Amino acid sequence: MASTQPQQTTLAPPRGSLYVNVATLLLITAMLAGCDRPRTYENQFLAFGTLVEITIHGAERELAEMAFEVARRDFAHMHAAWHAWQPSALTRVNTAIAAGESIDVDADVLPLIERAKSLSRRSRGLFNPAIGRLVELWGFHTDDYTGRRPPSDARIRALIDQNPSMDDLTLEGSQLSSTNPNVQLDFGAYAKGYGIGLVAEHLRAMGIENLIVNAGGDLRAIGAHGDRPWRIGIRHPREQGVFASVETDGDESVFTSGDYERYFEFKDTRYHHILDPRSGYPARHTTSVTVIHTNPGVADAAATALFVAGPSHWPAVAQAMGVRDVMLIDDQGRAHLTASMAARVEFEIDLPPKAVVHDRS
Ligand code: AMP
Ligand code: MG
Repeated sequence: MASTQPQQTTLAPPRGSLYVNVATLLLITAMLAGCDRPRTYENQFLAFGTLVEITIHGAERELAEMAFEVARRDFAHMHAAWHAWQPSALTRVNTAIAAGESIDVDADVLPLIERAKSLSRRSRGLFNPAIGRLVELWGFHTDDYTGRRPPSDARIRALIDQNPSMDDLTLEGSQLSSTNPNVQLDFGAYAKGYGIGLVAEHLRAMGIENLIVNAGGDLRAIGAHGDRPWRIGIRHPREQGVFASVETDGDESVFTSGDYERYFEFKDTRYHHILDPRSGYPARHTTSVTVIHTNPGVADAAATALFVAGPSHWPAVAQAMGVRDVMLIDDQGRAHLTASMAARVEFEIDLPPKAVVHDRS
C-alpha cells in the first residue's frame, strides 16, 4: 500500500487529529483568505471496499467539489457493475459461462475482459482473473476470517485440474462464449487499476491538471503539487508506516500487492489472498510488490503477477508485461529492485534492507 503525503492545507482534517484546534483553523483561514496561492483539496469516501482519497491541486474550489462528486459517482457505478460476488453485470457473465451459454456482455464490463485477457497472457497466466472459484474456495471474497482454515488439498486440486484460463474465453464483438464452464471471473486484481484510470481521465477532462486518485493506497498521480512533484509513500509490509517513497513524474500510477491486505493465520502459517494459479495456494516467498507504470490497469495486474512470480522469476515476467519500475520485498525482508526503480526510490527507514538490483537491460 502507498500513501500520499501532500504537505499543504487541505479541506479534510489531517489523519489522526479529529479535533482540530478551532482557533488555529480560523487563523489559517484568515491568512489564506487574502492570498490566491493555489490550494490543495482532499476528499475521502468508501468504494471498492476501501477508502478512496481524491487530491486536487491548483483548481478552483467549486471545480474541485464538482470533481469529488463525479469521482464518487463513478466509483459507485463501477463497484456495482463489477462486483464479482453480488448480483452485477459481471455475475451475469459468470452465470452464463457456468451454464455453457454465450452472452452479450454489458458495455461496462467488456473492456475489463478484453484488457485482462491480453494482460493475463503477457503475465504467462500468473495474473489470472479466471480463478474466481479458487478465490471463493479460500474465502477471500469475504472480510471475515474468524476461525478460517485452509481448504483441503483435494478441493484445491479439483479446481486447479479444471484449468480455468482467460484463453478459454472468446469475444466476437460484445458476444462472449467460453470453452470452459469452470471459468469464473474475479477482477479483484485489476478492476481497481482500471477504474482509477477511468476516474482520473474523467477528472482531467473536467480541466483538472494536478490530481491523485488513491484507492486504498493504490493510485494514479497526474501533474504536480505546485512546484514540487507528488511524493508517494510505500507501506512497510510488516510494520506500521512508510518504508520507502518515490516521486511521480507527469502521469504515473503506483500499485502495490501485499500479503498483509487479506489473510488469516492457521497453525502459525499465514494464508493470504494472492493465489498462485499453478498450485492453487497463496504465492510464497514474497511479502509485497510495488509497480510504477503509466497505465494503472497494467500496474495493478503486474503487481499481482510479479508477486506470484516471486523473488527469482519476477524480472522475466516484468519484461513480458512491459513494466520497468518494480520493487519486490521478499520473505526475508530484502528489497529486489530494477535499476530504474533503484534510481528513484528513497528508503525512509534507518536501515534499508539489502537491496538486490536486477539489471534487465
Ligand atoms: P491484488 O491486491 O491487486 O494483488 O489482487 C488480489 C485479489 O485478486 C485477490 O483478493 C483475489 O480476488 C484476486 N486474485 C488472487 N490471486 C490472483 C491471481 N493470481 N490472478 C488474478 N487475480 C487474483
Ligand atoms: Mg493487482
